[in-house]
Amino acid sequence: MARAQDDDLGRLREVWRDVLRRDPDQELFHGVVRAVLESIGPVLVEHPEYAEVVGRLCEPERVIAFRVPWVDDAGTVQVNRGFRVEFNSALGPYKGGLRFAPSVTLDVVKFLGFEQVFKNALTGQDIGGGKGGADVDPKQLSPGEMMRFCQSFATELAGHVGSSTDVPAGDMGVGPREIGWILGQYQRVVGLHEPGAFTGKPAALGGSALRPEATGYGTVYFTQRMLAEQDRDLDGARVVVSGSGNVALFAMDKVIASGGTVVGCSDSRGAVAEPDGVDVDALREVKDQGGSVADYAEKRSGATAGDGSPFTVDCDVALPCATQNEIGPDEARALVANGCWAVAEGANGPVTPEALAVLRKGGVAFGPGKAANAGGVAVSALEMQQAAGRERWSAEVVDEQLAAIMTDVHARARDAGERYCGDPSDLENGANAAGFLRVAEAMTSLGVV
Ligand code: NDP
Repeated sequence: MARAQDDDLGRLREVWRDVLRRDPDQELFHGVVRAVLESIGPVLVEHPEYAEVVGRLCEPERVIAFRVPWVDDAGTVQVNRGFRVEFNSALGPYKGGLRFAPSVTLDVVKFLGFEQVFKNALTGQDIGGGKGGADVDPKQLSPGEMMRFCQSFATELAGHVGSSTDVPAGDMGVGPREIGWILGQYQRVVGLHEPGAFTGKPAALGGSALRPEATGYGTVYFTQRMLAEQDRDLDGARVVVSGSGNVALFAMDKVIASGGTVVGCSDSRGAVAEPDGVDVDALREVKDQGGSVADYAEKRSGATAGDGSPFTVDCDVALPCATQNEIGPDEARALVANGCWAVAEGANGPVTPEALAVLRKGGVAFGPGKAANAGGVAVSALEMQQAAGRERWSAEVVDEQLAAIMTDVHARARDAGERYCGDPSDLENGANAAGFLRVAEAMTSLGVV
C-alpha cells in the first residue's frame, strides 16, 4: 500500500505539472485544481484504482470558444467572445450555468466548470459538469440589444447543447429572461420544441417553481446544517450577505424567515451596514430599478453605506453571495476578530485560499461553494426531470426536495471529511473527496474515453 501511495502522489504531481504547463496563465483554474489535488491523496490510498482518472478529470472533454457578433441600437456592429466548456459527462449531460460579465475569460469558465463537476456529483443526481458565458456587460445593453445578443450567442451554442447532451442554465447576468431568449433561438435553429435543453426558464416556458430561489435558499439550508453541528441555529443570528443579485436576495429572505437578521449587504458599487436589519423588499425594489445599495441606504435612517467590504461588519454568520475573491486575508481576519461562527459560500470561489487558511486557524466553520451553493443546480436537475416527464411540481414539493438534497450534500461532505481527513468539520476536503469518488467511479466504469 505504501508503494502504491508513493506512485499515486507522484501521479498527482505529474497532473499538476501538466495543468501548469498547458495553461500557464489560467490562475483561477489552477487554484481549484490544486485544491482538489490536495484533497484526494487519502482517497487514492483507499482507492489506488482511481489514480489514473485524475489526469483525465483535469482536462475538459470539450472547449468551445466562439465569436458573438450583434448590432447595437445605434446600428454599430459589436463583437463579443462566447464560451462553453463541457468538462465532464461521466455522470450525465453537462450541466452548469452561463455567465454574462465583462470579466468572463476561458480561465473563469474553466474554473467554474471544474468546480461544477464536483458540485453536481455531490448532489447525488445524474448530471455532468459544464459552464459557459460571454464577456459582455449586461448593464450596458438595452432589452432589445440583450435579446439580439442572446440570439447570436444561441445560434452558435445550438450545435453543442440539447436535453441529453448539455443543458445550460443561468448564472451572473443571465436570468429567466435571457434563458427564454436563448431557448427561443435554439428551438428555431434546431427545429424542435425542446424546453428541456435549458433550465432556469421563465415559468411560462416550463421553468421549475423555486429555481430562482434555489441557490439562495439552498445556501441557507446548508448553513443551518453546519450550525446544527455546533448546536447553534440562525434564530437570532446576525448575518452578512454580500451581493444583492439573485443568490443574495433569496438567501436574505431565507435568513430572515429563519429568525436571523441581515446586518450587512453589498453590490459592485459598495457595501451597507444596517444593525437593525436590511429590509429586503425595499432593497429589491431599489435594485430592480437599477439603483445601488448606497441608494437603498440613503432612504434608511439606520443604514450606513461605504465603499469597503461588508465583511468588516460585526456578524455571527457570513454568506458571500456576490462573486469570486470577495473574502481575502483582511476580510477573513475581520471575521475572526468579530467572533464569526461560520462562512458559507453562496457564490463560486468568494473565499481565497489565503483567507480560508485564516478562517481555519481562527476556528470559523467553512462551507465551500461546491457544496453550499449546490441548491441551484439541484433544482435545475429537478427542472430537467419535470421537462422529461411533462410535469409541473408545486413550490412546496420542490422546496421539500431541495431541503433534503442540501441535507444530503452536507452529510456527504461531512462524512468524507471524517473518513479521509479525520475531521467531520472539514467540509472543503470532504466535498472534494466525496465528489471525486462519485465521478471517478463512473469514469473508471466507462473505460478510457
Ligand atoms: P447576479 O448577477 O444576480 O448578482 C451578482 C451580485 O454580485 C450583484 O449584486 C453584483 O452587483 C454583485 N457583484 C458583482 N461583482 C461584484 C464585485 N466585484 N464586488 C462586489 N459585488 C459584486 O448573480 P447571481 O446572484 O446569480 O450569482 C452570484 C454568485 O453565485 C456567482 O458567483 C455565481 O456563479 C454563483 N452561483 C449562482 C447560481 C445561480 O443559480 N444564479 C448557482 C450557483 C452559484 P451589482 O448589483 O452592482 O451588479
